[in-house]
Amino acid sequence: MTDIEQKRDRAPVPKDWAYAPAPESRDIVRLRERYGHFVGGEWLEPTETYETISPATEEQLALIGQGTEQDVDRAVTAAREAFANGWSGLPGSERAKYLFRIARILQERSREFAVLESLNGGKPIKESRDVDLPLAAAHFFYYAGWADKLEYAFPNRRPKPVGVAGQIIPWNFPLLMLAWKIAPAIACGNTVVLKPAETTPLTALLFCDVLRQAELPPGVVNIVTGDGRTGAAIVDHEGVDKIAFTGSTEVGKAIQRRLAGTGKKLTLELGGKAANIVFDDSALDQAVEGIVNGIYFNQGHVCCAGSRLFAQESIYEPLVEKLKRRLETLRVGDPLDKNTDVGAINSQFQLEKIQELVEAGKEEGAEIYQPHCRLPEKGYWFVPTVFTNVAQSYRIAQEEIFGPVLSVLTFRTPEEAVEKANNTPYGLSAGVWTEKGSRILWMAQQLRAGVVWANTFNRFDPTSPFGGYKESGFGREGGLHGLEPYLRFDE
Ligand code: NDP
Repeated sequence: MTDIEQKRDRAPVPKDWAYAPAPESRDIVRLRERYGHFVGGEWLEPTETYETISPATEEQLALIGQGTEQDVDRAVTAAREAFANGWSGLPGSERAKYLFRIARILQERSREFAVLESLNGGKPIKESRDVDLPLAAAHFFYYAGWADKLEYAFPNRRPKPVGVAGQIIPWNFPLLMLAWKIAPAIACGNTVVLKPAETTPLTALLFCDVLRQAELPPGVVNIVTGDGRTGAAIVDHEGVDKIAFTGSTEVGKAIQRRLAGTGKKLTLELGGKAANIVFDDSALDQAVEGIVNGIYFNQGHVCCAGSRLFAQESIYEPLVEKLKRRLETLRVGDPLDKNTDVGAINSQFQLEKIQELVEAGKEEGAEIYQPHCRLPEKGYWFVPTVFTNVAQSYRIAQEEIFGPVLSVLTFRTPEEAVEKANNTPYGLSAGVWTEKGSRILWMAQQLRAGVVWANTFNRFDPTSPFGGYKESGFGREGGLHGLEPYLRFDE
């Protein structure tokens, strides 16, 4: 018997190389049965509740308060008092200490937050652990640094806080969107009333615990939970000076109409239909990773997702071939499993919306490809999907699907790529894959998108501004630009 045969006897070669489950424990998360609103540093008992679930199992996690107009009014009153009674007049270096504290506590408790984020939202734990949490903490660190340097950021313009900021956020990055909103607002001396999305309130409610731990003065940050009605009550409240909204273009437009003529400041971060453009000189294997990250990251629930792939005709076939092969290796399933690449769809509503658009794609004549994968029986799931043979006019090439669905189109020249990429009502982000630096610069100038990534996709950093053109909204979050919506200038 040879050495090799002997070894095989002892440790037989596995029949298949599938990963063994590697579930993250949920024990670190302590859920309460019922949550109220966090107003003036205290928990306010809700008059009405609804249940929040895990989209991966449909299991009920907790009862959540449905915020009424009275609840919003109390929160705004608490925020106004905190603004007037000290927070807005506190030296920037003092405000910064609280932000630094919050950032450090988020880092210390990051596993707890990551598990809860995946449990309530359905996103893979490796994403909440490696993306959402580090970035949320980084935003607080970054804006802590600006709190005492506003005079230098806007020289000779005498920056002052705006007042009470009403902030409404979506369900795709619950804690991260909270950080994007709260960190610059309080760094500038404003106070906040924030409403998390109806389906994903739990990390925002756990964050209230962090605020208490950091001893943030009561009323500086207030969290009121509920559905769109609660959001509308915040928008309409007379005591709110500024609205920051991230969500659908439809609701964004409705908010803009309601605020017209009120004098309230507004920033809108809305939908997208980003072009990810691959030229024939690009490193194809790298581009495939970028395409996968661009559209399947967070189940495609990403406003800047690279949902339209533009492949240069000469490499269309090998690129699509490689992409399909890569899709076979994506692991779809339990969000709490550390091997999972694609988790659960956030809600039944969102799943139905994805299904409807995919059916429309098939009916209009696009060719669908889905890898083999077994989906869990309970919960909301959608197989990562690629559509080829897509015409520009198809709904799947025009509308935001907000799910793991990619539409592949082709182009011949850079001019044609630009024209097709800009042929959308949106303008949030774009990606360019090419070895040529000059082409990257030229493309970046031509593309009507707030963010253009070159040879990468979905990269975020608190120092760089993010926001859209056209129906993707206006105003920037992140970086120096992210301070401006939270300041007024008495010149
Ligand atoms: P919405 O725009 O409805 O939700 C975003 C936030 O606004 C939520 O907190 C929501 O509350 C709140 N809201 C809803 N109606 C109002 C209102 N009239 N006034 C003030 N606030 C309101 O997005 P959906 O969650 O309904 O998703 C619908 C579609 O929007 C998705 O399919 C996707 O295409 C797109 N979307 C885009 C996002 C982006 O980042 N660009 C993010 C989320 C969705 P509640 O959750 O309780 O309804």
